[in-house]
Amino acid sequence: MGDLGISARYIKGVGPSKFKLLNRLGIETVEDLLYCLPRRYEDRSRIRQVVEVRPGNFETIRAKVITFGDRTTRKGMNIFQMAVGDSTGVIHATWFNQPYMKDRFKIGQELILYGKVEKHIYLQISNPEYESLTGAKADSINMGRIVPVYPLTENLNQRWFRNAMKTAVDEYVGSIQEFLPYDIRKRNNLMILKEAVRNIHFPVSDIVLKRAKERLIFNEFLLLQTGIAMKRARIKIDLNGYSHDLRGDLIEKFKKRLLFEFTKSQARVIGEIEEDMRLPRPMNRLLQGDVGSGKTIVALYALVLTLQNGYQGALMVPTEILADQHYKNIKSMLAGLGLKVVQLSGDLKPEERDRRRRMIEIGEADLAVGTHALIQEGVNFKNLGLVVIDEQHKFGVMQRSLLKSKSGNPDMLIMTATPIPRTLALTLYGDMDVSIIDELPPGRRNIKTLYFEGENRDKAYRIAYEQVKMGRQVYVVYPIIEESERSDLRAAAKMHKELTESFPDLKIGLLHGKMKSAEKERIMSDFKNQAIDILTSTIVVEVGVDIPNASAMIIEHADRFGLSQLHQLRGRIGRGRFFSYCILIADPKTDDAKERIKVMLKTQDGFKIAEKDMEIRGPGEFFGTRQSGLPELKIGNIVRDRDIFERTRAEASELIKKDRFLRGPENISLRIELKKKFSAQDLELAAVG
Ligand code: ADP
Ligand code: MG
Repeated sequence: MGDLGISARYIKGVGPSKFKLLNRLGIETVEDLLYCLPRRYEDRSRIRQVVEVRPGNFETIRAKVITFGDRTTRKGMNIFQMAVGDSTGVIHATWFNQPYMKDRFKIGQELILYGKVEKHIYLQISNPEYESLTGAKADSINMGRIVPVYPLTENLNQRWFRNAMKTAVDEYVGSIQEFLPYDIRKRNNLMILKEAVRNIHFPVSDIVLKRAKERLIFNEFLLLQTGIAMKRARIKIDLNGYSHDLRGDLIEKFKKRLLFEFTKSQARVIGEIEEDMRLPRPMNRLLQGDVGSGKTIVALYALVLTLQNGYQGALMVPTEILADQHYKNIKSMLAGLGLKVVQLSGDLKPEERDRRRRMIEIGEADLAVGTHALIQEGVNFKNLGLVVIDEQHKFGVMQRSLLKSKSGNPDMLIMTATPIPRTLALTLYGDMDVSIIDELPPGRRNIKTLYFEGENRDKAYRIAYEQVKMGRQVYVVYPIIEESERSDLRAAAKMHKELTESFPDLKIGLLHGKMKSAEKERIMSDFKNQAIDILTSTIVVEVGVDIPNASAMIIEHADRFGLSQLHQLRGRIGRGRFFSYCILIADPKTDDAKERIKVMLKTQDGFKIAEKDMEIRGPGEFFGTRQSGLPELKIGNIVRDRDIFERTRAEASELIKKDRFLRGPENISLRIELKKKFSAQDLELAAVG
């Protein structure tokens, strides 16, 4: 047995030049090598005869080279073709633009070939993976078993790598230390670690391979969940926040002004927020609620509470249009209550900006509403009691924490309309508590979603026209089509012109991100006041905009938007009591794009859509690793392996409840592993020591 930390150079067969190639794969030590996991497996216990292969399937065959040669097409492409066969038939293997292939084979040579079989004039495999068997010893590593296939670079071949891996496994797997406490392993019926590593490379059967994968996924998730649980445990005892008084004149007056009753969900969430705000530890709460579920008023309630206690509040939103909308709303809701609300957005004149900053700094302003301008340098609060961040998925982690650091240790409420399942939320926003508004105000969701191909656009316009004639209003939204914003604007502007010509009796507006704030403001208030019937716009209306009279949205090139974006856009309508239409115009080319449109037609449930979005894009891209602060997962997939994910979460929280710093003898190995896998910064383990 040896030391896993020694250089992979000492593995038999790895010389200095091969070691360099391993380095390029990120492999330095024997341990790195052992954790370089197969990309897929080939079941070579089931090699096909040529007569058995089916077009459309991925197949493995064993055959001899009969003849080969290459040619160049008129367009200059090199095609290398080879006929191989066994006693049952002949098949062609073809490689494109790899002229050096012709030096790699000999007639009579025996090969294993793997690839997708196609039927042209004859059967063919394009760009197959292959291995030469001639000259190689008949062995038990590469043949007659389930064989691992690794993610390798050009100059490393599978056969060589597999042999090196086999040596490493045979010599070093015995040194792998189990780090999971016995009862966790027992309870979850897990394979021991050595066996899992051995079988992830050279599985003795499908069933064992499955168990090996499960064990390694469990490892990955458990480490992640434990790290997060430790972080949570640490935050819970921070008592240096503000304790809010929940009763008082101000909140009573505010309640009297409400034009509607809170939904049950809203009332429950307000209760959760009140409890947090009452306690001296800083609130750190994520509020999830589908578009239109009424998050704003809940946030405003919390803000009024903080103002009532003599603190300042801040509300940060991702766009100026939204900042403006919230500002106006809030001002009218708080009118006459003796509170000062200021707005801080992008393009204020310097003197004006400085004046407002000063008001915030000396405490003359009670509530600041704005875009990321709120976190820019030079903005300081006198006594910030509560920070609210709306549409948080549009901000990065950094921006979130920057606003919090503006003064003292304020409570924090972040809101998102990209809902995700609760367990996931608890993990990804591991240090936060999660509230969910899971119902809409009464009378909502009367939205019909339609889909037209581009050539049937006029049908969409007919619906839009009818809606306007009924007193409603319409959005027409354009995606980012070209790389350059300029040409997008041109497309939206062209659309605007066309609409103006087609409907001379209607008032058509145009809105885009490059406009000056004042101009955007004017257009939005014209739309709000119904001085505009149809608003042509780029994506700037995506989030938060609330104009209940708008009852139709036409989304051009809908196939170019992501699912969550489409859902957000659709959330702009159906906000009042009017039956609404969401019309997708698209000519989808890819399967993913078709799938997105299908999902939009099928459901309006934000949770389902978010899940589907995760499935299509993969969780990594959905959350953005940077956004979520998650370490990269190598083998686990939080959507596919959700059951393991949930099990590890429960295990981790038990573990930390019993032994917060993992100092017990049964947990020491786990703690060491945790510190090895994740940087201290990732999981704030530094505090644990
Ligand atoms: P979102 O959660 O998408 O931010 P908003 O807070 O903008 O949703 O609310 C959507 C609309 O619903 C707003 O016009 C708001 O005034 C209204 N609304 C919120 N709560 C209720 C309620 N309990 N009853 C009726 N209407 C409500
Ligand atoms: Mg909102």
